[in-house]
Amino acid sequence: MTAPSTDIRLYDTAAREKRVFAPANSDRITMYVCGPTVYSRAHIGNFRPEIVFDILRRLLIHQYPDHEIVTARNFTDIDDKIMDRARTEDRTIEDVTAEAEGWYRDDAAALGCLAPTFAPRATETIGEMIAMMEALIARGHAYAAEGHVLFDVASDGDYGRVSHRDLDQMVAGSRVEVAPYKKNAHDFVMWKPSAEGQPGWDSPWGRGRPGWHLECSAMIEKHLGRTIDIHGGGQDLIFPHHENESAQSRCAHDGAPLANFWLHNGFLSFGKDKMSKSVGNVVTVDALLAAGHRGETIRLAMLMAHYRQPLEWTEDLLVQAKATLDRWYRLIEKKPAAEASVDLEFLDALSNDLGTPAALARLSSLARSKDVGALKGSAAILGFNFDAQERVRGPHALGQGQSVRHQQRISGASGENHGADVAAIDSLISERTAAKAARDFATADRIRDELAADGILLEDGPNGTTWRRT
Ligand code: AMP
Ligand code: ZN
Repeated sequence: MTAPSTDIRLYDTAAREKRVFAPANSDRITMYVCGPTVYSRAHIGNFRPEIVFDILRRLLIHQYPDHEIVTARNFTDIDDKIMDRARTEDRTIEDVTAEAEGWYRDDAAALGCLAPTFAPRATETIGEMIAMMEALIARGHAYAAEGHVLFDVASDGDYGRVSHRDLDQMVAGSRVEVAPYKKNAHDFVMWKPSAEGQPGWDSPWGRGRPGWHLECSAMIEKHLGRTIDIHGGGQDLIFPHHENESAQSRCAHDGAPLANFWLHNGFLSFGKDKMSKSVGNVVTVDALLAAGHRGETIRLAMLMAHYRQPLEWTEDLLVQAKATLDRWYRLIEKKPAAEASVDLEFLDALSNDLGTPAALARLSSLARSKDVGALKGSAAILGFNFDAQERVRGPHALGQGQSVRHQQRISGASGENHGADVAAIDSLISERTAAKAARDFATADRIRDELAADGILLEDGPNGTTWRRT
């Protein structure tokens, strides 16, 4: 077996530290990422995990060529929000979920994300969920009450191992009324009864439907196995969703852990708040594409902050991502025959807990030194495939246009050709934007100061950073 050229280290939420990744099996690596509830169009925040775990998957494919990398991402297609939407719009549930699923697949593809090996729907996994509840009841970890099936949290001595929440404190501080059929306030619903007119499936506990947490446990067991290598999702899923998934699977499987690594991405915010449908501050992939942005630009913008850090979505991020891609394309177009290779410094940066800001800084430096082969080969691991694409310039081709404008201004002012300077300045501005997005203000300030020392003054405006000579 080929050993990876550099260790991949990943921050494991359960261990609360970075650990060196090692596949549990010699021939297969398994990864599961929680997917969307399909009742409306997902926003770009929902695609942060999609992109982040796509990058991890591509890194694993590169580093473990002898392994099969098997992934799954679910579609939650039974949920109260879906039922509400179908009722309000007088449509069937299948109609609502099929439409939203189609949008999600289209948007994920536009962002350059590989389709998962398995994309199971909750409604296709009901039999496996019922079997898992039966196993849990048989082992004394779940109980049936009034048409419900509940997980008995007190029966699991290891409850809390993913999120490290202190349940006693939460009970003391909570004022939520506890449903009468629960033995314990923290017991969670795995199955609930469906009234007439509501969708439901026959089960040993009557006609009903699953609670949200159970589907992921059942899908993982069905498609990937008892213990997977990596489980991912957004930070909002750590508790209760992932804690409950972990408890269900571990207790149904006599203590076998659900995942060896638990990874969680930070939130994408827009304005003051986390981007979310309930706040209403959402931006969708199709709206950005309609505005002339390319999927790869959105993808690159998303990588400018480290995946565990918050990322504030701004127009500036897209402008800088576009400028960076344009620069790369210009370089690559000049040397189309350059043989792709993967730069080790880039690989090290990315392998350090998916350090995309440092990895992108390295790509900028490869671009500056015109190492086209290494730029091309390394960027491919981030999902940017320059060879395979016909370049279509959208109406917002700011990167190139901006540089040309700058160049004309400089040439006009001094009568000299500063084309090389312009590329270098653009590149440094991109690095500074990435540093700011990663909250690395020391680096951002250093770049501004360095440029100032060269007589280049940066101005941050609503449409991005512009510059002029002093
Ligand atoms: P949901 O459809 O809300 O269950 O979300 C699907 C996935 O997107 C989950 O992994 C969430 O954690 C993630 N997610 C939702 N909103 C955001 C956001 N604003 N930033 C980053 N990830 C998010
Ligand atoms: Zn899940």
